[in-house]
This record gives sequence, C-alpha cells and structure tokens, in this order.
Amino acid sequence: MMSKVVRSINVMQCIARELHTKKKVIGFVPTMGYLHAGHLSLVNVAKKYADVVIVSIFVNPIQFGPSEDFNIYPRDFQRDRRLLSAAGVAYIFYPDINQMYPKSYRTYVEVKELSDKLCGRFRVGHFVGVTTVVAKLFNIVQPDIAVFGQKDAQQAIIIKRMVKDLNFPVKIIVAPTVREKDGLAMSSRNVYLTTEERQKAPVLYQALTIAKRLIAQGERDPAKVLQAMRTLIDAVPELKLEYLEIVDLDNLEPVPIIKNRVLIALAARLGKARLIDNIIVKTNG
Ligand code: AMP
Repeated sequence: MMSKVVRSINVMQCIARELHTKKKVIGFVPTMGYLHAGHLSLVNVAKKYADVVIVSIFVNPIQFGPSEDFNIYPRDFQRDRRLLSAAGVAYIFYPDINQMYPKSYRTYVEVKELSDKLCGRFRVGHFVGVTTVVAKLFNIVQPDIAVFGQKDAQQAIIIKRMVKDLNFPVKIIVAPTVREKDGLAMSSRNVYLTTEERQKAPVLYQALTIAKRLIAQGERDPAKVLQAMRTLIDAVPELKLEYLEIVDLDNLEPVPIIKNRVLIALAARLGKARLIDNIIVKTNG
C-alpha cells in the first residue's frame, strides 16, 4: 500500500488525535528526505514499537547556516515515497516551508551548552534550528515514540535533553549507524563526494575503529588515542578535520581519562561534503 502523504499541519494533527483515540501507538521518524538504508533502519525500529509509523520529510531551512547547503541539499520526494511505502509507513508528513515558518514566525527552542559543543562550534545556530523543528514536529505528529540515528550522536543527546526539560510525552529511541560495506556512514550528503573522494572517505571510520581497538587493548589516555586517529586521517590531505574529540556522553566535554562509556566524535570536510561520524566505546571496568 502507498503511504498517505499529508501536507497540512492541521490535517496531520487531526490524524494523530484520531489515532490516539483508537489507542494506536504512533512511531515517528523525522528526516530531511533523500532516503537511504540508514533512514529505513529507523523506520524498522519504529515498526517494532509502534502500531502506526509516520515519517516526516522536511529540509528544515533554519538549521542551515547562510553559507551552508540548503539550496543544493538533495531531494527526491517520489523516490522517498516509494521507499517508505515499501517499508510499510502509513503516513508521510511533507509540510510546506511557508506553513512551518510563516512570515510572522518568532519562536525558537534552545538547549543550552550542549548545542555549543562539537558540531555546534562549527555550525552556529544549527541545533537551535534542529530542536525548534523537532519540537514543532512533535506537537504536530504527537508521537509516542520517536527514532533518531546514532550517526547524529550530538543531535540525539540534545533531543533527549529537550524532551526531558520540556516534558514532551515521547520516548526517544536511538538506532545504530548504518554503514556502507567499506565503513563509511551512510548520509544523504555522500552524493557530494567525487569518485576519488568517496574512496578516501572510509578513513574516518578506520580511525574510529583504531580508537576502539586501542581502548580495548587498555589505552586510557585520550591524547594517545586521538594522536593515533589523527595520524591516520592526516595521511589523507584532502580530509580537513573540523574536530576530533573524546567526550563525556552527558555533557559532551572532553574527558581527562577514558572510563565507563565515552563518545568519540569527529567532523571533517572532504571536497564539497561535510562528513560526521562517531562511536560510543565502553571500557570493561
Ligand atoms: P537526516 O535526513 O540526515 O536529517 O536524518 C534523519 C534521521 O536519520 C536522523 O535521526 C539521523 O540521525 C538518521 N540517520 C542518518 N544517517 C543515518 C545512518 N547512516 N544510520 C542511522 N541513522 C541515520
């Protein structure tokens, strides 16, 4: 069956209300479209928890900086609709920009501190755009559960904080990063890579893998782990690292020593693409 496309905010809210009246559990996956297997894995996780899955497709202008890729961000709604229909998604919420942000729009949701770390240092205002649109989408779709990808680790952490702080009645589930065979994290932005760049991109995941191995072998000094990662990444001069950090999962601050669970996160530019990746590493004891 084809997924139903809903363009109106009011209609989406009416559908959500009716589903709740019928005691249906709503599972929600927000996306910017141009879907890949990573997005579809989130849909599959949502299906496990929910009776009805709703996916939004909205390239959210306010999370892009003035010199970022909003205008060229890849879009293919018909293809997305086919993929979501095949995946058993009941509704696609596909709103119009002017309905989401009319000229009179004035309200923003900000998660302090967490939004200034990691990606936030390089994409000023990005996470305010993300939390604002996700808050709006939660009020429109009224999900019981919402699934986000570990690929955007900082985003997931910030959204969990927002949900707690603002008492949204929604359970956030974080699903694992889906990768290409060579380890590159799937991303709609990977289409920006040339063939040569695409061949070099997996170095980022190789660096994360090396970090994991060093920690498994007992290394606890973040500086040593980061140095080994940097050596590998620097061997590819086209890769311009924005940040490479080992941080605490609660406050996203760099850790002085590796213990319990840490987030190893990085962002790098490669040609026209900005790539991000991360892993969570657990120490044993
Ligand atoms: P986007 O369309 O890029 O805004 O992503 C929509 C959702 O899909 C976010 O929760 C992302 O974290 C998630 N996502 C994107 N890429 C992947 C991936 N490779 N694996 C798992 N989840 C992903």
